[in-house]
Amino acid sequence: MKIILLGAPGAGKGTVAKLLSEYDGSVQISTGDILRAAVKEGNELGKEAKAYMDRGDLVPDSLIMKIMEARLQESDCKRGFIMDGFPRTIPQAEALKELLERLSITLDMVVNLEVPREVILDRLTTRRTCSNPSCQEIYNIKSKPPTPEGTCKKCGSPVIQRDDETEEAILNRLETYNAMTAPLIGFYEKEGLLKSFKSLDSKATVEAIKQSLSA
Ligand code: AMP
Repeated sequence: MKIILLGAPGAGKGTVAKLLSEYDGSVQISTGDILRAAVKEGNELGKEAKAYMDRGDLVPDSLIMKIMEARLQESDCKRGFIMDGFPRTIPQAEALKELLERLSITLDMVVNLEVPREVILDRLTTRRTCSNPSCQEIYNIKSKPPTPEGTCKKCGSPVIQRDDETEEAILNRLETYNAMTAPLIGFYEKEGLLKSFKSLDSKATVEAIKQSLSA
């Protein structure tokens, strides 16, 4: 499959993307994960992106497009991809349209995950993430806690609260989403690619997406 996942921070894009990728081998491309790995590594990209990310602001479009232009040409994308957290602005969506045309890639669908704001706020403030960049298992202190020692059940690394998951950064990320990313819903509706799913349960959402793709 070749799809884009749209949705507010905390809508469950990462979980849905992982499940879809396990289903047919399409690769999950998360710009957030790519940026976090760069910050951890301390390379040029990471140094440039860190301050924006910690505040919950968007990283500049030019930097993101450079990453995505290279990423989409890697061989694992041939089997299909699930874009998670990209595009995030109208200029990114326009640049992506041009890039996909240039690479002769056609999108199957743009999936919009609809989740009520109060559910999102609760999820984000209780979310914890495995600190190991190659694991990044997501936990929730209420519904899916890590071990009592605060370590990851999959790989044993410490489970942490991300810098951008403080209350202040979360509110900023939601505001940024409404101002910069929500307009993409109209953009992809016009392109005839948008499909919205009310999404409270990730597994049920994945089943609905699979059905919709095969219809
Ligand atoms: P995420 O894990 O997708 O919520 O991304 C974490 C942070 O990385 C965001 O709050 C932004 O600072 C940055 N980021 C990720 N993807 C993008 C993007 N497509 N455009 C701009 N900034 C991004």
